Formats: sequence, structure tokens, C-alpha cells
Amino acid sequence: MKILVLNAGSSSQKSCVYELNDVLPEIPLQPLWEAQIDWTHQQGIAELKVETATGIQLEEELASDSREAAISRMLETLWKGKTQIINDLNEIDIVGHRVVHGGQDYQQSTLISPEVKKAIARLAVFAPVHNPVNLEGIEAIENILPNVPQIAVFDTAFHAQLPPAAFVYPGPYEWLENKIRRYGFHGISHQYCARRAAQILNRDSADLRLITCHLGNGCSLAAIRGGVSVDTTMGFTPLEGLMMGSRSGSIDPGIIIHLLKQSDLTSEKLDDILNRNSGLKGISGVSGDIRQIVEAITQGNERAQLALDIYIHRLRSGIGAMLASLGGLDALIFTAGVGENSTVVRAAACEAFGFIGLKLDGEKNQQLSVDEDIAAVDSAVRVLVIHTQEDWEIARECWDIYRR
Ligand code: ADP
Repeated sequence: MKILVLNAGSSSQKSCVYELNDVLPEIPLQPLWEAQIDWTHQQGIAELKVETATGIQLEEELASDSREAAISRMLETLWKGKTQIINDLNEIDIVGHRVVHGGQDYQQSTLISPEVKKAIARLAVFAPVHNPVNLEGIEAIENILPNVPQIAVFDTAFHAQLPPAAFVYPGPYEWLENKIRRYGFHGISHQYCARRAAQILNRDSADLRLITCHLGNGCSLAAIRGGVSVDTTMGFTPLEGLMMGSRSGSIDPGIIIHLLKQSDLTSEKLDDILNRNSGLKGISGVSGDIRQIVEAITQGNERAQLALDIYIHRLRSGIGAMLASLGGLDALIFTAGVGENSTVVRAAACEAFGFIGLKLDGEKNQQLSVDEDIAAVDSAVRVLVIHTQEDWEIARECWDIYRR
């Protein structure tokens, strides 16, 4: 069966096609076709890049802001031209969408119906950047491939079993009644990493206590016991928790009260400060990209050093909190852009946990291979670097639902 995966961002659209048979392989397959649309570089222009498993590439610019028009052209490259891999779009059996917010009602991947679409639209108040573009992708596919089942794979779903003590905020009880609670995000990535970790360690995931560190532009941790997320750092929105590229992570809410009292700050401005001008970028004034922070430090930039110090301090504190929720640890896992590549961040994070017998193998940490154990042989806790594969996880969920 052929599974089309759509992963929509605020100004990008990634997509790929996997071919799966009756037996699901343990290790992710390479997609037959991958495509990306990017609206960030030029106003009103979508840049389309396509690559097939055989290495054929296509790049073109589309003069359109319309997501549906861009998706339609992207899908055309599946059955037309040099990147063609199928004869007809009807060869696609099922379409899986990453949907950021599923709220309390959608605790697992779900066949998309008019009711599910309404819920995704309703939940856009909680995820204003993502849910609307997820819905646009779903509607575009409905128009292009009207008879193909579509599945919503929610980023919040993996955290659906958090215990109340972890998901209820200690504000007034009405918050909970109004669905203001911790949801947690990056669930597709945390779930993939937990399963992949069990494979790499050759253990049953039911017996494992894991902390997954998803460190990309957005950063979050999950405490996973027996394959279930029991605690996580992101909350009601993806702003809570760790310091991130340009997001503050957790701050004293008293700061916001203070700022509101002292100035005529609007909610839009506050959103801009906390989501786009804080974190590594806000402190360093250099960039939200850890590579540029490390580069600036080598040139003696003190604010860049402070930014990295805060990032590490908060990462360690977060790992400590997850450790307490788990009551022990079998493996610490690093994933996403920073987690998979930054030897500096991994070494600094691990250094704090020598007291539980966690020991990194310095040489292995320097090697840039993924899906590896980089702990010292005599470490009491394994340390894994896993290349996260969210699209594969979405395809797996689709395969599972299709075959039920
Ligand atoms: P997103 O959260 O948007 O999916 P990624 O997981 O791709 O992002 O992470 C992007 C971040 O990863 C970049 O901002 C950068 O800080 C970091 N990163 C990417 N490549 C490297 C690298 N080779 N070395 C260190 N950090 C890297």
C-alpha cells in the first residue's frame, strides 16, 4: 500500500510517500518520494523541492500563496514529469496528516470525518499557527483525492495518559473545566524515539524508563514509562518548559503581570516577545541557532555564552524533573536538530548526571552517527542519539488503522 504523509508548518509543507506491505518493517523505510514547499524566502512565492528514492530532483518556484494550489502542483510531481513514481493519484491508498492539537477528545490517531475536521477547527484557539494550516492540507487533499481515507495523527495524543497531577495547572479549578491544562507536544517524535530506543537496546518497551529530549527549534522533554508518557515539559501551548531557539520556555508569570501593569503591551506584542524574540535568540542577540551561538562564543561573545549557559541549566533541570517523575532511568535519548548534532549540548547535559552513574563515551559523542548508544560501557544509564522520523511514525499509524 502507498501512504502519503503531509506535515504542515506555518510557512512550509513537507510531504512524502511510503510503500508498505503486510509486514511492517522494524526500521523506517526510505520514502519513495519526498517534497517540501517553502514560503519563507520570497513574498508570494512557494519554493518546491522534490526528490525521489532514486535520487531524481526537481526544484521550482510557484507564484502562489495558496496552500491548495501549491499542494496540487506538489502532488502532480508524483505522477507527472521526471519525479514520477506512480501512474495515477488513485494509487495512493491512505493519507496521514500531522495535526498539532487534538485536545482532550482525540487521544489517538483518527479517521478524518466532518466531525473531526470541526474539532480541529475548534481547537485552533489553542494552536492558532498550526491547526488552521493542518486543516487547509486536509481540505486540499479532499478536493484532489476525494475518495481516499485521511488520518489525523495528533502531536498531543502521545501525552494523553499523563496523570492528573502532571496535567492540571494549580490555578483556579475553572481552568481545568475550560480545558486549560497541560497537553504536551512533539508527541509523534517522542513516541517514535521511545519505540526506536527499545529496538536499539533490544529490550521490551514495557520494561523501560526513558527520558526523550526533543531539541530542535522547539524543545521538549518526555518522561516515558512502559511506552507511556507520564510527564512532559511543554504544556497548554508549546511555549512552556525548556529554553528554545526563539521561545522563552517557562518564566515567572509575575513577569507578565508586571509588564502589563508597566506598559501598554498588547497580547500580540507579548506573543511576539515570548515566541519569536526570546530564548537563545533573545538572550544572545545573535541567533536562535545553536551553531551560531557556539561560533559566537569562540569569538568571545559573552551574551552568547550566557544564552548557552541558561539553555544547559534549564535542560538539566528539566531532565532532573523528568527523572523524579520516573523514579529511575534506563536511557536518556537525544533527538531533533540540536539533540542529533550538538555534541556540546549532549556532553554538558550528561555531565550533571554522573551522580546517578550516567557516563558518556566522549569519543562516541563526537561521532555524528545516529541511532547509536553513546554511553560509556560501564554507564548505569544508556545514552542514545536517535534520528527522529515523524513522517515514518505517521505512516505507521496510517498502516495500523488501514489494516484494522
Ligand atoms: P524544528 O524544531 O523546526 O523541526 P530541527 O529539529 O530541524 O527544527 O532543529 C533545528 C535546529 O537544530 C537549528 O536551529 C540548529 O540549532 C540545530 N542544528 C541543526 N543542525 C545542526 C548541527 N549540525 N549542529 C548543531 N546544531 C544543529
